[in-house]
Amino acid sequence: TSYKDKAVPRMNPSANTLFWQYRRHPRWSRIFQLVPAIALVIFVIFGIFALRSNEPMKKEFVKEAVYDKSKIYTEKDFLNAYGISQTDLARIVPPSEQIGKEKATLVMLVRNRELNDALKSMREMEDRFNRKFRYPWTFLNDEPFTEDFINYTSGMASGKTSYGLINKDQWSLPHHIDQEKVQANMKTMVSKNVIYAGSMSYRHMCRYNSGFFYRHPLLADYKWYWRVEPGVEYFCDVDYDVFEYMRAHDKVYGFVMSMYEYLVTIETLWDSTKEFIRTHPQYLASDNSLDFFVDNHPPTQPGEKEITGTYNLCHFWSNFEIASLDFWRSQAYQDYFSYLDSLGGFFYERWGDAPIHSLAVGLFLPKTKIHHFGDIGYRHPPYSRCPQDVDSHRSGRCFCSRKDHFDDDGYSCLPRWWKVAGQSVGAGIK
Ligand code: GDP
Ligand code: MN
Repeated sequence: TSYKDKAVPRMNPSANTLFWQYRRHPRWSRIFQLVPAIALVIFVIFGIFALRSNEPMKKEFVKEAVYDKSKIYTEKDFLNAYGISQTDLARIVPPSEQIGKEKATLVMLVRNRELNDALKSMREMEDRFNRKFRYPWTFLNDEPFTEDFINYTSGMASGKTSYGLINKDQWSLPHHIDQEKVQANMKTMVSKNVIYAGSMSYRHMCRYNSGFFYRHPLLADYKWYWRVEPGVEYFCDVDYDVFEYMRAHDKVYGFVMSMYEYLVTIETLWDSTKEFIRTHPQYLASDNSLDFFVDNHPPTQPGEKEITGTYNLCHFWSNFEIASLDFWRSQAYQDYFSYLDSLGGFFYERWGDAPIHSLAVGLFLPKTKIHHFGDIGYRHPPYSRCPQDVDSHRSGRCFCSRKDHFDDDGYSCLPRWWKVAGQSVGAGIK
């Protein structure tokens, strides 16, 4: 027998054998026992990451739920969206450069002597909304603005400013007006203690806001405006572009407060409006807001183009308006204004631009195009309205008291609007 015969044949140990050999080695054995623990640690780390990355989404979701799917930016989101860091904001965007993307302006009809109140309104508007968007301001006046007025207001504005003088024949008695009748009617109204009864300039102002402001050359390039008055207040941060909201949601007219007009100031306005619709039935929208203006109007036949019933005096308070200029420029509105102007009610009575604007948007537009800005806190003395939803208050967005509103004390037409527009009372959110 040779040495070779006795030799055990050499074989490579299989991978399987090696595995079990190592597995049995005490050092490796301990490591293998750790496998479940390591897996658990990895699982927990992944879990934490997953939860953390989900957190902004969760916040977003809560906001979306409260604000009903409209796009809401926090200031940080806003700067991110435009690729601007907080510290670079001032350097990158020169003070007057517009950030908001809409063709829109803040517009204020104002007298020189109202400068201080104008600045207060501007300061709040800038702090709450416009410093984030830098929309331009447009100031209109029936007299030339003083140098002081221009310097202070352009200093306060974050966007560019323009100053317009109103055409004299848009601020004087039209030729067809009987001046003696105007004087006589004014006297009667004064004796009834009607507010602004004796003021001719107030009548010019109402007529201008009804029929002319949107034709001013300074507004020609704009599609949207936000009407601002001296001495008003804005209580809440507005962290989204309201003009973009209007466009994206196909809205035409936005308001905050709604109330009753003094009947003595518009005695013949409703009948005149009825007459206008009778002669221009094509302008009456099929899904209009007649139910907002008339309580229990007689039933109309489907497709009937006539308005009936008695006006309940409800209107949108027009010292706040976020609206489309194109609507006022439309044939329907131009015809309506011309008709009303031909009747002389701006002077024989004291027709306000608020009921006129309201009746026009309420009758010529489907009600879905009218938007109640329930999330904007606003005050025009003597009334104010604070948002009613909980989140507006928890978020620290507003500085008004939640009790500060008159939604349910009988002076407000808002509950009526919610009924007509299908919003629930107190929802107050778009
Ligand atoms: P009220 O809100 O109905 O009490 O009326 P306001 O006095 O506030 O006037 C409504 C708007 O028109 C405000 O923006 C005023 O600054 C402006 N206004 C009123 N009268 C005149 C006027 O005679 N000339 C100018 N330029 N603006 C006016
Ligand atoms: Mn006012």
